[in-house]
Amino acid sequence: MSEKYVYLFSEGNGKMRELLGGKGANLAEMTNLGMPVPQGFTVTTEVCTRYYEDGEKIAPEITEEINRNLKTLEEMTGKKMGDKENPLLVSVRSGARASMPGMMDTILNLGINDEVVETIAAKTENPRFAYDSYRRFIQMFSDVVMGLPKSKFEVIIDELKDRKGVKLDTELDADDMKEMTARFKEFYKENLNEDFPQDPKEQMIRAVEAVFRSWNNPRAIYYRKMNDIPGSWGTAVNVQMMVFGNMGNTCGTGVAFTRNPATGENKLFGEFLMNAQGEDVVAGIRTPQTIDELKEVMPDAYNSFVEICGKLEKHYRDMQDMEFTIENGKLFMLQTRNGKRTAAAALKIACDMVAEGLITKDEALMMVEPKALDALLHPQFDPAELKQAHLIASGLPASPGAACGQVVFSAEDAITEANKGKKVVLVRLETSPEDIEGMNVAQGILTVRGGMTSHAAVVARGMGRCCVSGCGEIDIHEEEKTFTVGGHTYKEGDWISLDGSTGNVYGEAVKTVPAQISGDFETFMKWADERRVLQVRTNADTPKDAKQAVAFGAQGIGLVRTEHMFFDSNRIKAMREMIVSSTEEQRRAALAKLLPMQRSDFEGIYEAMEGRPVTIRYLDPPLHEFLPTSSYDIATLAQDMNLNIDDLKSIITSLHEFNPMMGHRGCRLAISYPEIAEMQTRAVIEAAINVNRKHPDYHITPEIMIPLVGDVNELKYVKNIVTKVADDIISASGIEMKYMVGTMIEIPRAALLADEIAEEAEFFSFGTNDLTQMTFGFSRDDAGGFLSHYYDKKIYEQDPFARLDQHGVGKLVAMAAELGRKTRPNIKLGICGEHGGDPSSIEFCHRVGLNYVSCSPYRVPIARLAAAQAAIKNDKN
Ligand code: PEP
Ligand code: MG
Repeated sequence: MSEKYVYLFSEGNGKMRELLGGKGANLAEMTNLGMPVPQGFTVTTEVCTRYYEDGEKIAPEITEEINRNLKTLEEMTGKKMGDKENPLLVSVRSGARASMPGMMDTILNLGINDEVVETIAAKTENPRFAYDSYRRFIQMFSDVVMGLPKSKFEVIIDELKDRKGVKLDTELDADDMKEMTARFKEFYKENLNEDFPQDPKEQMIRAVEAVFRSWNNPRAIYYRKMNDIPGSWGTAVNVQMMVFGNMGNTCGTGVAFTRNPATGENKLFGEFLMNAQGEDVVAGIRTPQTIDELKEVMPDAYNSFVEICGKLEKHYRDMQDMEFTIENGKLFMLQTRNGKRTAAAALKIACDMVAEGLITKDEALMMVEPKALDALLHPQFDPAELKQAHLIASGLPASPGAACGQVVFSAEDAITEANKGKKVVLVRLETSPEDIEGMNVAQGILTVRGGMTSHAAVVARGMGRCCVSGCGEIDIHEEEKTFTVGGHTYKEGDWISLDGSTGNVYGEAVKTVPAQISGDFETFMKWADERRVLQVRTNADTPKDAKQAVAFGAQGIGLVRTEHMFFDSNRIKAMREMIVSSTEEQRRAALAKLLPMQRSDFEGIYEAMEGRPVTIRYLDPPLHEFLPTSSYDIATLAQDMNLNIDDLKSIITSLHEFNPMMGHRGCRLAISYPEIAEMQTRAVIEAAINVNRKHPDYHITPEIMIPLVGDVNELKYVKNIVTKVADDIISASGIEMKYMVGTMIEIPRAALLADEIAEEAEFFSFGTNDLTQMTFGFSRDDAGGFLSHYYDKKIYEQDPFARLDQHGVGKLVAMAAELGRKTRPNIKLGICGEHGGDPSSIEFCHRVGLNYVSCSPYRVPIARLAAAQAAIKNDKN
């Protein structure tokens, strides 16, 4: 920790974000630029960290330094805190390194007490203003410092207004405000057993502490989790001389953006209120005027503001979001920051600014949040409608998009109703492979159980289908076709809406608008492609998904999950026959039925990829996922296989596993039943030969991937089967074709022994879903249920299944990559776990030198941008 705890605005600069927070650094920068900033000082983020280390206390030497800076501020402004002649009032505001709008607390008008209020009243000849400021301060102090909610005071305001027979606060006069202040103080004492503090310095230190505390309020913690902001950063606190927008009709306050944050249009956008304080604009009690109207009302202030906007945008080379106040006709800048914007606006602004010569392409690429692109790919709710909608529950934002439809409780009902032309939302306790068709025809999927990598989530993302999973608040009765939440029961056919980007569930139909992809999107993605080093592939199991991914810019397939092809109702039968076979002969018969289906699927995928590389993974899932459960399905299967129902039931029982995720899956299946790997090899190779014959320019080189390997001997065994079958087919075909055999690294033992495994593997693909599961020992399917306790208790900040745990799992990835390259310097390295579409994980993949990331089709554009940003960041370091 540095020796200096507090900086005057005139001592800092815009580069000191880490220490001064965004707001503090920008106030300092504007001060340096000679702009009209009410002066003040910033208590650093390090003091916040220290505050927590010291058991939520501000150390005496820091209090002393704050008081010293206050003295300097008093000298600079010629005002004094608590003074009877010329009192100084300040605002105390949070300001973290990354902007967290509205998440932490602010106190305005600090420094008023029973004496100061009289001085202000006399000096301004405006007692109403003086008492209005005092009562607002009491309200904010009570709320932020003492935890006595602001809203509780509203009752007193309403009583006063009722008594006077008026509707608006503005209709209350000076005497009313005086009475309100007195009643607020009484209310404070009644509830908090102390008098409202009269010593301004005490008010200030208690306010600074409260802002530090607000760093850890639940909404700030949630916001940080959503935006990958570490809890260790802390917030700075800015103490700034108050200027007043509510002193009369030559005063006002407003918020403006240098460009339109919704569309990106290069035109000043904002609003202001005359005779008001900042919070009035935000609270929406009065309807503000547009910024253009300021030109008419106060032309001088408007002109200076426009000039400052131009300077700020040029200086920061980004769209600015500014707060300003006009006090007696004089403009003051209270804040500037890079403005938040919609994805469409972000792209337009980035492209326009490059065209204007304001920024470089690299800077443009760094300006857009990769995850924001998602909004351009899926239909979205009409924002105005969403505001009015009735929120009934929240789950995990498993797959983005907006879905609105009538509730159905089974995949069959989804299909039946969708065939009638209805829009449906499939609500399930959890999903199983049998639900796939129902999921596909549904607008969205809502599950009570399951995490971000649960079956529902992975499949939904793959399909670009909106999904909210792990929505535990819902009490579901699938048989009765109802679910209950918040005391209301929803039946089949009721309308609900899901927001897959927030996890919110609404109890009605909310209108959607189609996604719009403008020309800027393409230009921007071209720049990203020029800049990135990592290749971007996709996880796709069908020609349709593959085509979609190519349209989004995928350069190949990093993972075909071959089992997904058998979820289809016509195919699951043959798959089940294969699983319950008790002899090799029976199994071969079932596999023979699967072969043509699998081969034609691969042909479709190769065709869709037009010669781009395709990695096909052999059968992997826990087999029980495919077993029939309903008596109807069991009876049908028994009949198809000529088996007695009871015999079939006992086979099914014998296949039961206590821990299927660690059970008979992955390469273990091919080790028990080599004929499965034989069939899959035949399908992969024959399909490639067929498509190569049709399209000689494709030069398909299939990449065969063996899953869940933990030892080189497992890989060797399966590889032998593969090469024998493949080589025979290729030589019989008379054409020349190469193929590769590689493995997934998804068991910690494989990562530890990657040098040995690389003797056999021509490529590695990191299966970080399983690698995370097995490194943490957290079940992928169940962790969602208890991980929230870990976040609450700050043991983990992020879902390790969504964002790669670089510290632990990442260490295994980096080590395995290095060991693999030691044995086989040109080994091809990729990642195909869900992390392959997560920007921070992609940056890690770039740093450890993987060749590609692979993610679901709808994340391909996100990955392309994240890969470009990783390259730019790394070049800088
Ligand atoms: C993985 O484990 O990361 C992986 C991609 O395989 P799956 O999710 O199919 O287990
Ligand atoms: Mg896996």
